[in-house]
Amino acid sequence: MAIYPGTFDPITNGHLDIIERSSRLFDHVIVAIAESSEKQPLFDLDERARLIGDTVSRFANVVVETFGGLLVDYVRRRGGIAIVRGLRAISDFEYEFQMALMNRRLDDRIETVFMMPAEAYSYLSSRLVKEIASLGGDISGLVPDAVASAMEERLASRRRSQP
Ligand code: ADP
Repeated sequence: MAIYPGTFDPITNGHLDIIERSSRLFDHVIVAIAESSEKQPLFDLDERARLIGDTVSRFANVVVETFGGLLVDYVRRRGGIAIVRGLRAISDFEYEFQMALMNRRLDDRIETVFMMPAEAYSYLSSRLVKEIASLGGDISGLVPDAVASAMEERLASRRRSQP
């Protein structure tokens, strides 16, 4: 079983691509949502879990959970053998390399597995999607439809509360 951890604020089609690839490689996959390092995430943990849950229900061996604390502790607790991470471009490498080696130092029985998404998603990030949506750009095809509507609603209510 593998754990795919991330912030997923919100889930994009790039994340989904990695989830689909992992679901073919591992018997079970847990998409594990962490608190956001940003002060104000667009969606709270439960909302992110619901949006991901709706999208991954088509994969029989994928479930969604939230977690706090050290990732390796969580992976051990759940009996996972691997951490899945996505690599888009060389710019991801430095950070992912550090995290993978630090996690190995914390527990060398847990392997980090990197996967590359389809090229079309290799320049896609949650941060960019939020930026485009907040400036009124078209994000269809970048995130699942349900996520695009949830983002529109959220951004509209933010605009109403902070004119
Ligand atoms: P984190 O804050 O942990 O980086 P993210 O939700 O941004 O969380 O990303 C989770 C994982 O998914 C990371 O390994 C990231 O590199 C990967 N990822 C993000 N966007 C994409 C994408 N478009 N294609 C492939 N992998 C991606």
